[in-house]
Amino acid sequence: MTPGRLRRIMTAPVPGRPPTVYLDHAATSPLRPEVAEAMAPFGAERFGNSSGAHHVARDARRALEEARDLVAECLGASPGEVVFTSGGTEAANLAILGTLAARQEAGLAAGAIVCSAVEHAAVLESCRAATRATARIAGVAPVELRVAPVDGQGILDLEALEDLLRDDVGLVSVMLANNEVGTVQLIGEVVGAVARAAPGAAVHTDAVQAASYLNVAELARGADLLSVSGHKLGGPKGVGALVVRERVRVDPIVHGGGQERDRRSGTHDVAGAVGLAAALRAVAASRREESARVGALRDRLAAALVAGLPGTVRSVDSARSLPGHCHLRFDGVEQEELLVLLDERGVCASAGSACASGALERSHVLAAMGVPAGQARGAVRFTLGHSTGPPDIERAVSAVTDAVALLRG
Ligand code: PLP
Repeated sequence: MTPGRLRRIMTAPVPGRPPTVYLDHAATSPLRPEVAEAMAPFGAERFGNSSGAHHVARDARRALEEARDLVAECLGASPGEVVFTSGGTEAANLAILGTLAARQEAGLAAGAIVCSAVEHAAVLESCRAATRATARIAGVAPVELRVAPVDGQGILDLEALEDLLRDDVGLVSVMLANNEVGTVQLIGEVVGAVARAAPGAAVHTDAVQAASYLNVAELARGADLLSVSGHKLGGPKGVGALVVRERVRVDPIVHGGGQERDRRSGTHDVAGAVGLAAALRAVAASRREESARVGALRDRLAAALVAGLPGTVRSVDSARSLPGHCHLRFDGVEQEELLVLLDERGVCASAGSACASGALERSHVLAAMGVPAGQARGAVRFTLGHSTGPPDIERAVSAVTDAVALLRG
């Protein structure tokens, strides 16, 4: 399937419903045609268990290792540094809990973890789990969690971060780009600050959102651990990877047959690994043009809505945001109501902070940015991606304008 055909299918009208305008790529992206094609043989045909000894297993292992080579190349790692996981969430859990477990195993104090105030729940909850787990062990000082603040655009306060870094810090986790508002962090600066103030600490960066547009191999070169997820890239759901540099050790959090050099057990999802590799390759091949194309569409959407709807504020400037993110706050509007009206008009957007039940939670990201609760209630995230075209923007502008006018009465 060509990208043009995919776009036509995604925007084809459902009887009785307006055409779908999918602007929720930060939640998940449709599978890229080239990814679907790469994965197709790994269902019924090349179905082997990559840990076996016969030729069917060897064939699967070859495919897995080719996928690993490609993932490593795209992420600026060596193949041995790539650990396949069940997604970004597991990659973050392994980075945080696995690093702390390895430190304890090596007789080092669990110490403290430092993260930014705007991390995804996968990171925040892993950090909190580490503090809870150590608090339960008699005679062990619990891990302390220190949270570094951000400014009004979600940019990490590097001075405040440096104040939290001391010799007792075992791990620092700062995302490369934020899922909700799209802010890109200066990871190189974070790595430099950690090297100066807490040289024994490992640095993890959650590159799940950033990998769709940024050259993470370049930007996160100094990080010790880096996580990515297939489905945010136009790859499959349920697969991700954690890069673990040779210099750092992680203990497994999923135990069993010792796959992934004893860092993550479980029969390999060969199709998933092949899909993740194909998605990363597709992104790398078109990164520059796609960033410019999607960024221009995003700017058009933001400019039209800010100009056309007084009382609309953009949360993060284009210069500091991923190209696909357009996070807006509409005065006098409740986000739940706006999202329902947009859905009725065919537009899929999001509040950027839904929990597993789909219910909207107060956004910890907007709270950390100092956005007043009243304004946060009118916040909506539009995220564009590889299947977004100019007609999506025209339709979205018209639907949002119409819906906001209706809500403001
Ligand atoms: N980190 C970030 C920044 C994300 O946006 C997400 C998904 O929304 C995750 C981690 C979790 O990734 P996955 O859905 O693959 O578990």
